[in-house]
Amino acid sequence: ARQFTRPLNDLSNQFNTLLSAVAGADRVFDIIDEVEETSDEKQSKAISTLEGKVEFRDVTFAYEKDGYTVRGLSFLARPGESVALVGPTGAGKSTIINLITRFYEPASGKILFDDQDSMNIQRESLRNHMAFVLQESFLFQGTIRENIRYGRLDATDEEVEKAANMANAYSFIKRMPKGFDTELSQDGSGISQGQKQLLSIARAILADPSILILDEATSSIDTITEIKIQEALRLLMKGRTSFIIAHRLNTIQQADQILVVDSGQIIEKGSHDELLKKRGFYHSLYQNQLRKDHVKAQ
Ligand code: ATP
Repeated sequence: ARQFTRPLNDLSNQFNTLLSAVAGADRVFDIIDEVEETSDEKQSKAISTLEGKVEFRDVTFAYEKDGYTVRGLSFLARPGESVALVGPTGAGKSTIINLITRFYEPASGKILFDDQDSMNIQRESLRNHMAFVLQESFLFQGTIRENIRYGRLDATDEEVEKAANMANAYSFIKRMPKGFDTELSQDGSGISQGQKQLLSIARAILADPSILILDEATSSIDTITEIKIQEALRLLMKGRTSFIIAHRLNTIQQADQILVVDSGQIIEKGSHDELLKKRGFYHSLYQNQLRKDHVKAQ
């Protein structure tokens, strides 16, 4: 049997406009056809709270038998920490996210949430404590209010507006002809890429998760919106454990921990300063990125 529903790669490839930047992972997966959910282990229980401690102990995984394998994955993210995943394309960053969100399960090793073996936790109850902000914002046809409220369906109008305010989205929404009641089209035309991201951040703020999954946008967004996004993300990340597939140097530098992934393994981990001192893989990645940023800036 297939062990998954909709992992990260499939999301961005197949559902690009439909499915991304979303709060409340499980709800999103509910709306997609073809979802084939693995049933929970017999002994598993629902959790009502989650502090956000995440630990991998020697986790191994392969998509297919004899296929590409990630192995020896071990790390510990304390509640509230930000963890940047960096590494070349195909290294296994999305795979690690798919394991955290439990769209795939380890072949060996353990994943623990708040010191509990994941096998003892029901997936849906775990995902209720997770939210995504991905590169492509997932918006549906409906009003801006409905789109934000999707993060927590029982939120009041006041809570929706407060979340929008915290996400730096309030002023652009208020400038729209019908404000929060402005209808968005399914493809989200009529608002910019950056504004879509602000909406997805508002949605995640409303969802109030303990674990955040961020896939940092690679496309360029105008500087002012970019500053708004960064500010809103900082606020969103505060007090939550966040895993960031990071592309920007300043995000990486500010992370509490960096996991350097290559060929399915975590080959280095530590803070920016610690890793630079090692003068290893991270050091050369960093030098490379610096050069690229320098070229871009010219
Ligand atoms: P990128 O930065 O390009 O997104 P990544 O570091 O996130 O890359 P992954 O997407 O985790 O890398 O992919 C790791 C390896 O697993 C790659 O070789 C990829 O081809 C393979 N892979 C990813 N998804 C699947 C899948 N559903 N089935 C089989 N192999 C897969």
